[in-house]
Amino acid sequence: MSFSGIGYDCHRLVPGRRLVIGGVEIPHELGLDGHSDADVLTHAVIDALLGAAGLGDIGEHFPDTDERYRDADSLELLETALTSVIAAGLEVDNVDCTLIMEAPRLGPYRQEIREQLARALNLPATRVNVKATTGERIGFVGRGEGVAALAVASVSAR
Ligand code: MG
Repeated sequence: MSFSGIGYDCHRLVPGRRLVIGGVEIPHELGLDGHSDADVLTHAVIDALLGAAGLGDIGEHFPDTDERYRDADSLELLETALTSVIAAGLEVDNVDCTLIMEAPRLGPYRQEIREQLARALNLPATRVNVKATTGERIGFVGRGEGVAALAVASVSAR
């Protein structure tokens, strides 16, 4: 028996912040605003994982009002979420995710992001897929105001 979950997140692009995507810092003049490192892709993956396991959402597990999570490394939050999934008697089958960002292009970083997410999920990189697309210059993503991400995770009973 396997279970699937969906995740979605978006963060605003602002000056003076780092652009961290899937645990990889990407050089850019703008970064993502948020309480933690604002790693939008990893946040979507966390929500997909929690969703698949029936464990609620990222806001319940890591509230943005909690000072412990200020500037938190979201890959560490993903590792913590994985611990909860395992404690529920489940294991992760695979994760697929899509980043929607106008600029910069993700291509040069995609393999490293895949490896970082796979490491945090304790999975081979072949079980973690990372895709990227743009906002086609329309909407908040297309205007470069923010970045969005979607993810799907599948888990099954151990
Ligand atoms: Mg977020």
